[in-house]
Amino acid sequence: MQKRQIIIRLAAELAMLSPSKQRKIGCVVVDRGINQIAAMSFNGIAKGEPHHRCHSDVDKPTDEVHAEVNALIKPFVGTGWVMVLTGKPCLRCGRTIVNHGGIGTLVYDDQCEGVSDEGITVLLDAGIMCLTREEWLTS
Ligand SMILES: [Zn+2]
Repeated sequence: MQKRQIIIRLAAELAMLSPSKQRKIGCVVVDRGINQIAAMSFNGIAKGEPHHRCHSDVDKPTDEVHAEVNALIKPFVGTGWVMVLTGKPCLRCGRTIVNHGGIGTLVYDDQCEGVSDEGITVLLDAGIMCLTREEWLTS
């Protein structure tokens, strides 16, 4: 199996660890050659906080810590990292990724419903390459 497929599957497996009742998102940050994993994460509440605090009202915006933020708070340095996400970044996460400064490429799920393209727009405006999973697998 191709390395990129393995990373996409790993992100999907991580999403299953999310306690979210709204949307489970997984995230893996790797180097371009996929020789190192810098961070792995999923969305959720604070460490040690009871899971029942994840609300299930799909019409309410999620108040969980998003998978992108949970990855970016891991201690990794350098630039040009590839962030592989099972969803699409929201505007706030797009801005957080830009300000972090370490991510050079974002791989996302363009079929993710309920999330606008604002996060992708912010990333593109900042010069961060954004690829759908399919584009990343074939590039
Ligand atoms: Zn977000």
